[in-house]
Amino acid sequence: MTGSPEYRPMIGLEIHVALATRSKMFCGCSAEFGAPPNTNVCPVCLGLPGSLPAINARALELGIMCARAVGGQVQARMHFERKNYHYPDLPKGYQISQYAVPLAIGGEVVLDDVEDAERRVRIRRVHLEEDAGKSTHSAETGHTLLDFNRCGVPLAEIVTEPDMRSPGEARAFLEELRALLRVAGVSEVRMEAGELRCDVNFNLVRSAAGDGLEGTEISEVKNLNSFRSVQRALEYEVSRHREAIRGGEPLVHETRHWDEERGITYAARSKEEAHDYRYFPEPDLPPISVDPDLAQYLAAQVPELPRARRRRFRNEFDLGSYDARALVSEAELADFFEEAVAEGADPKDAANWILGEVRGHLNATGDSLADLPVTPRMLAALLSLVAAGEISGTMAKDVWSEAVETGRDPVSSVEESGLRQISDEETLDALVEEVIEENPDAAEEFTAGKEKALGFLVGQVMKKTRGQANPQLANERLRKALRNGSDHR
Ligand code: ZN
Ligand code: MN
Repeated sequence: MTGSPEYRPMIGLEIHVALATRSKMFCGCSAEFGAPPNTNVCPVCLGLPGSLPAINARALELGIMCARAVGGQVQARMHFERKNYHYPDLPKGYQISQYAVPLAIGGEVVLDDVEDAERRVRIRRVHLEEDAGKSTHSAETGHTLLDFNRCGVPLAEIVTEPDMRSPGEARAFLEELRALLRVAGVSEVRMEAGELRCDVNFNLVRSAAGDGLEGTEISEVKNLNSFRSVQRALEYEVSRHREAIRGGEPLVHETRHWDEERGITYAARSKEEAHDYRYFPEPDLPPISVDPDLAQYLAAQVPELPRARRRRFRNEFDLGSYDARALVSEAELADFFEEAVAEGADPKDAANWILGEVRGHLNATGDSLADLPVTPRMLAALLSLVAAGEISGTMAKDVWSEAVETGRDPVSSVEESGLRQISDEETLDALVEEVIEENPDAAEEFTAGKEKALGFLVGQVMKKTRGQANPQLANERLRKALRNGSDHR
């Protein structure tokens, strides 16, 4: 008997990303987030009669870079279409989008470190479209308030194949995608500004006779605006579908909404999902031909992508995967790291310092690295003093904090304050002799086997040098002196 195979989740995502343009997709209105309601509007984005749209060239460029970042094939010719539907936040009565011929087809995003294996998520397509407005329902007054500032803000919609196999994997995909888009300069992907929103397609499947799959009906959960909500909504759907299978009750293909407070999804009213968008080519915009030279130029503007950079950091600098991931996830830290190494810093020391001191400072103050007056060259010089034993790690941290505050070169601080550690053996040996002579009891105790006495003696050496002795070396020289001493006895 061969029991029937287990059901597993099958997950596809549709992601809307706001492109980092100054103005909207088809008019000159500002695309900035957070302006007072209905201040960034004009006849075009309000869909007033007689107004005509014009394509924002920068949005098209960023769309092409977005497509390249996920490995998509940019189409040589494309056009916009009208997606017709009626909703209060859509004053035109249609959204300008792409349907039959999107901006790009194909691509993939590779996730490493997911359950110790590499996973590939195929991209089906990337297309351009405009955002809709925002409605706010007031429970108090029963009114709905409309803000049209978002109307016409340029979006790239990225559609994946249903290649993700768990809620955690969907989240890992989104995190990788966000890193890709940031590095490519396509979007800042500020979640709090709604710059990334996600629709989820979900069902449970198992292999069936032949090569086929059988499974539950697909649920579509719409408009999730945080990675956490995506994961939670999917976890909820996994158990809902499993229960349906167990109870033998059939599911229906439907659109669902996520209730963040209650942690559940619920079915949309069927009217909401009865869609016939009657797509047709946008008559007010010409078809677009993408000049291959421009496409190539833009592709070259996409810098090294996070996965390749992580791999290079592991191979070239021998960093562990945690350090490589942590540095690369914030491009400015990774750039600072590479420059410090180019200035001669040891890669592991530089990585530790940047992920500890530098990132700690940035997190605590909310500053960006560009705000700080320190340079990779300063860090490299400081780290080489530590590596040579010229100053202690604690001293290095002190002069570094001063540099971060004042921009004062940490190496000159060390020189001028005479903080340089005493690491010269002759000088230390002379001090060690003095300390032993002045503290015969402690010396005796140590030679009699009391390890603790050594700490006291090291402390005396540090005291004589006002903390400037290299403590490790002082320890070594003391041991040597005392051991020699005991041999003579
Ligand atoms: Zn406008
Ligand atoms: Mn869309």
